[in-house]
Amino acid sequence: MHKKKVVVVGAGITGLTVAYRLSKHEEEFEIVVFETDKQIGGKLKTSDFAGFLLDEGADAFLARTPWAVELFDEIGVSKEFVSPRARSASIWTNGSLIPLPSPNILGIPLYPDSKSSELLSTGDVQKIEQGGRPENAIQNETDISIGSLVRNCVGDSVFELFVDPLLGGINAGNADAMSCETMAPQLLESARHKDGLVAALRETYEKSDPESPVFYSHPKGVGHIVERLAENVNGSIRKTESVLSIERFNEQWLVKTPDGSELADVVVVSTSAQDAANLFFSVSPSISTRLSEIEHASVSLVSFAYKASDITIPENESGFLVPRSSGLLMTACSFSGNKWTHLDDASLKLIRVSTGRIDDQRHEMLDDEELVGRLMDDLKTTLGINNHPLEFRINRWPKALAQFKVGHLQKMEDTISQLAVETPGIFISGSYHFGVGIPASIRSGNEAAAAVIEQFGKN
Ligand SMILES: Cc1cc2nc3c(=O)[nH]c(=O)nc-3n(C[C@H](O)[C@H](O)[C@H](O)COP(=O)(O)OP(=O)(O)OC[C@H]3O[C@@H](n4cnc5c(N)ncnc54)[C@H](O)[C@@H]3O)c2cc1C
Repeated sequence: MHKKKVVVVGAGITGLTVAYRLSKHEEEFEIVVFETDKQIGGKLKTSDFAGFLLDEGADAFLARTPWAVELFDEIGVSKEFVSPRARSASIWTNGSLIPLPSPNILGIPLYPDSKSSELLSTGDVQKIEQGGRPENAIQNETDISIGSLVRNCVGDSVFELFVDPLLGGINAGNADAMSCETMAPQLLESARHKDGLVAALRETYEKSDPESPVFYSHPKGVGHIVERLAENVNGSIRKTESVLSIERFNEQWLVKTPDGSELADVVVVSTSAQDAANLFFSVSPSISTRLSEIEHASVSLVSFAYKASDITIPENESGFLVPRSSGLLMTACSFSGNKWTHLDDASLKLIRVSTGRIDDQRHEMLDDEELVGRLMDDLKTTLGINNHPLEFRINRWPKALAQFKVGHLQKMEDTISQLAVETPGIFISGSYHFGVGIPASIRSGNEAAAAVIEQFGKN
């Protein structure tokens, strides 16, 4: 039987998911994956730092959504997973670190505890106590912004102090402009509960097992998970070979790279939206424009290794968030050794500091020395660290995190429909579709692979 040639562009978690899913149909598809970089994984990258295997970008994924857990179960790597032992985090506010309210869901306190009540407005404390009914009824909108929903149900102080730093932090965004349907569909559903948002979240909380893991990672870093996935791909993965263009060639697609070209029946573009926009530029300028309209935030992550005796960090805490109102450069700080047993060390403390938001790109203006200096100033302010680290490492991630405006999912559906008409045989997938996280990227890869199988498989 003639196999269909499939070219996958990009060997990040999304592209490798596509390649793996299609590998299950090896009698139908011949798979070639092209990757610009010298290594696979994209933003899942682990390397040596201060004698540890430390992630350079993502370091964990949500355990309570199905897509990542299912995929990693299938390839047999999930039995090696670890989850954070420190599970509580704080927020930097009014010059001190305050524990996030417990319990909370997505930053929304389920019951105002004494600490959070001191910080919130009296009116907002009352709203929480009374169940968080919206002041203005939430009609049948399919999507609204997280900011308008949360402000409406539990007030501005809850949003600004807890929800925006937490949810906005996930993709370095501004939760006032963020699609609730994409980033937090459970809030939209819960806000329609007859007794209010908080009442619905309390019900969810009471049904959940508080001991079940929230995040998973691998002791060898998330880069190891991608390697294991790639081992299960039946096809060739060609590193350091960038796809330069895709051109129509009769009923097929000519995929050009610096080393030659491949004639493909199917192309799955699994890159960022901007890289995809560049590739669509000649085959469909309108799809290219749609993709280039998805904004992306740049972030930088600086890892520090301190001599343990030189610093004191709160015990049993995974780290802290920094609201935009603080004026600090840092947006979050993670205590790697508190979080992960495999990164805990009696003589060394590892800390990862994040910076950058869609509306705060100051970090991009700073050279490496200035960036590290400014973040050390922030560590002095927040944690009182006066000493110099033994080592530091800077990872800059330009235009790395997609921003999801209200109505995003509908726009993606429209783009995919347009793609089927204008460029049949070319598919898109990536972290700009359902959300930036690893599970959402895998979900997007799953859906692209399912569409390929449906349209080009033997049945
Ligand atoms: C600092 C940071 C921290 C994060 N933390 C977390 C976290 O803790 N948990 C979580 O779930 N998510 C996290 N994320 C998000 C998550 O890492 C990404 O959304 C996800 O890895 C995206 O995967 P992807 O395969 O879609 O894209 P990418 O990882 O960007 O992969 C795309 C690949 O395509 C390649 N490519 C691009 N153009 C071409 C071309 N023309 N030809 C060939 N190859 C090409 C690129 O080189 C790249 O390898 C984080 C992201 C960042 C930046």
